[in-house]
Amino acid sequence: MPRDPVAHSASSLLSVETALARILDGLAPRTARHVALAQANGRTLASDLVAQVSLPAHDLSAMDGYAVRAADCVPGTPLTRIGESAAGHPFEGDIGQGQTVRIFTGAVVPAGADAILLQEDADATAEIDGATVMPRETVASGTYIRPAGLDVTEGKVILKAGTWLSARAIALAVSAGHVSAEVWDQPRIGILSTGDELASPGTPLKPGQIYSSNAVYLASFVAQCGGIAVDLGTAADQPGAVLAHVRAASQPLQLIVTTGGASVGTHDHIAGDLSDSGAAMDFWKIAMRPGKPLIHGQIDGIPLLGLPGNPVSSAVCALIFLRPALARLAGYDYEPSMTNAVLTTDLPENDRRQDYLRSVLGHDEYGNAIVTPTARQDSSMIGVFAAANALVVRPPFDPSRAAGDVVQVIRLDPRL
Ligand code: AMP
Ligand code: MG
Repeated sequence: MPRDPVAHSASSLLSVETALARILDGLAPRTARHVALAQANGRTLASDLVAQVSLPAHDLSAMDGYAVRAADCVPGTPLTRIGESAAGHPFEGDIGQGQTVRIFTGAVVPAGADAILLQEDADATAEIDGATVMPRETVASGTYIRPAGLDVTEGKVILKAGTWLSARAIALAVSAGHVSAEVWDQPRIGILSTGDELASPGTPLKPGQIYSSNAVYLASFVAQCGGIAVDLGTAADQPGAVLAHVRAASQPLQLIVTTGGASVGTHDHIAGDLSDSGAAMDFWKIAMRPGKPLIHGQIDGIPLLGLPGNPVSSAVCALIFLRPALARLAGYDYEPSMTNAVLTTDLPENDRRQDYLRSVLGHDEYGNAIVTPTARQDSSMIGVFAAANALVVRPPFDPSRAAGDVVQVIRLDPRL
């Protein structure tokens, strides 16, 4: 097999979409359990949540004022104050003809009342029961009342299975009467580096060595996407090393991610180890840049994604392939959020590979998004990647673009 797929026939290059569809096929979350909602941020619902109470549970006042019968609320016709309804302290009785109850925001509207007269639209002789309240305005029935069930109806689904639990979703679930929810277990993702040149961070570099950075990047990435990263160490460039490291994993894994060794050079052993494990294996050359070689297969029934070794290729492939795979394993669907931005520089016609250009996204003086691809795009350049905050996406054969053209951009997560 030739090492450079671009020099090879067009049919040997797999599109990003096809590769992603094949990676996602068969991935699913495994086990669900109940967890306290206070601990559920970033987890995915495994079953629908149904409202246990309506919101609001009763008719509530939206303002400070007087609960009245709208028909009785006539300027110049006095009402008699018979009680008070404050938040948490409802008035127990009924409002009869000619009566009113002092009421405050969030308090239950007493039986018999059908409107709230604003306090500034009434003159009260005193702030005590028995006082006379003189309306200065009429009010229509329903004014300033939040009817029971306005927001949420008891018995209705409020959050569907597959919902990623944000702080907003958790606040809704708690408001609707829940303390816990059934969520999918976070997927455990094994991360294995490969390469004889890799030195552990913090150790002195021997000649020809580099610090291994992919594992720490991917561990942060996995955590950021709702998974649990399991460090599988660094495999030497020797047949059997990848298999041995995977089989030594201390806990069950739902996905193995490797970096490096993904080509078919003399020192690249992942492909060989996968076939030695008896598993079906795809060795893909993807029509994308960065990130040409990608391995997809399984070891002992555990799916494996073999990312390229170059740090930028590895990170971009993680964004394009690992991110949706993690979402599947965690139980939710993921769509990359693309945004439009105006190019500040010209770009030549693209070739057959989908390009992800390391770029800096900002704003012009009017607040419009503008984007500048960096001059150097080498996939080994972690310095350029760290300085970027976005990727300009260029489809295969995208025509040349001029400064001022609108292009599609993926924002890079600022926490990664
Ligand atoms: P490979 O696919 O194994 O030929 O690796 C491609 C390039 O990525 C080589 O220059 C490697 O030194 C580099 N590389 C591989 N693994 C890592 C890693 N864990 N951290 C940083 N660079 C790496
Ligand atoms: Mg290598």
